[in-house]
Amino acid sequence: MTGPGALLDDYPLWHPMTDMPSFWDSPLTMRAGRGSRLWDVDGNEYVSANAGLWNVSLGYDHPAVSAAIRYQLEQLAYGTLFRFGNEPAQRLAQRLVGLVGRPGLTRVFLTSSGSSAVDTALKLVRRHHRLTGSPSRRTVAAFTSSYHGTMYGAMALTGEDLDQDEYLVDRRDVLHIATPDRSRCAACRAGGTGCHGACWSAALEVLERRADELAAVMIEPILGSAGVVVPPDGFLSALSRFCRARGILLVVDEVATGFGRTGRMFAVDGTDLAPDLVIVSKAINNGALPLAAVVVAEEIWRAFIDRGAVFAHGETQSGNPLACAAALATLDVVEQDDLAHRSRRVGAQLADACSAILDDTVGGHVEGAGLMLGLHLDAASGTPTPGQVLAIVGALLRRGVVVHPSPLGVSLLPPLTIEEPELQTITDALHDVLRRTVLQ
Ligand code: PMP
Repeated sequence: MTGPGALLDDYPLWHPMTDMPSFWDSPLTMRAGRGSRLWDVDGNEYVSANAGLWNVSLGYDHPAVSAAIRYQLEQLAYGTLFRFGNEPAQRLAQRLVGLVGRPGLTRVFLTSSGSSAVDTALKLVRRHHRLTGSPSRRTVAAFTSSYHGTMYGAMALTGEDLDQDEYLVDRRDVLHIATPDRSRCAACRAGGTGCHGACWSAALEVLERRADELAAVMIEPILGSAGVVVPPDGFLSALSRFCRARGILLVVDEVATGFGRTGRMFAVDGTDLAPDLVIVSKAINNGALPLAAVVVAEEIWRAFIDRGAVFAHGETQSGNPLACAAALATLDVVEQDDLAHRSRRVGAQLADACSAILDDTVGGHVEGAGLMLGLHLDAASGTPTPGQVLAIVGALLRRGVVVHPSPLGVSLLPPLTIEEPELQTITDALHDVLRRTVLQ
């Protein structure tokens, strides 16, 4: 279907988040993947600095994940969780509770995508307050520039402009707070412990004014789709303390950041953040099959159970045993190979290399943690235009490197297993492309 003379009219597949005529200008169809490498249908090779869509953390075709799926296929390929259990889902729930490792977070609800997990969390927090006698707590706060997915609930929370009004997304019970801007805070940029919150106190003041109507605050611990943006020092802790003091639930969306991506198992590890719900997906099973999970506080579970309330929610594929078996195998590898540590070490090297490239070319800075890196490019108007970013992404693709475009430049989230030769291919291509790029 991608042969010469083929028309877009003859191409029935509608791609998500894709300008179809642009796709059709230079259609690219992938056929195979091994490790950090991909091959298209014409046999051209690429290095993925995008790990699929930030989910193929172990690299493509990981033998342990494939073997686990094959084994489970022969046991029980499908099992509903509506009124029945299945063993991989039960083991996975146990495993996630242990991995998240917070005493109060004891229950797990399984879904099939990050978006549907965000919708799950929304329903849980709103119903929780109704069950516990605070029905006026219905507003959920999220941040400008955030991304939480494209289902109606998730899209309502998403701060990034996705034409929400055009789709009649109902945002009456959503409050968007300006994301604190670390790049404008001199103390934050200098590093260390200099920031005393001037850059984020405005966000807390807005929340304070609406505190009594808030059911929850949802936050990405590091903004992903916004271009990899790290919150200012102290902000997440202060937000967490504020939520706790005011009876507001804190939902942490670790869909992009979970399972070693940021150099820790979860981005909230090692912080004093106290989430009531943690949402995970993407790297949970190396992208093998659709799966997401919401790890939920015992207190929320008890609100339902103690009142005999059934959570009227779920999908046919909630807890699909193949997806869960793939997750268990993936988590074994992440832990046994200490990929969080690898992500931290390799990410630091890649960040240094990219900083040097930016200094030598267009200017800008590298932001992120572990192997979640945003290259924020200097441009005349502050941030590069979408056209400039697409030109850079296209030029990298022609040199065989897949990166993610962002409003601030490009993002690098390669497999956590990426090796030296592939890293070299990425940095060589970046250097070459940015050397020829003029943004001022
Ligand atoms: N939350 C975050 C932080 C994400 O990065 C994404 C996906 N990019 C989502 C939610 C939505 O996940 P999905 O695409 O699986 O619906």
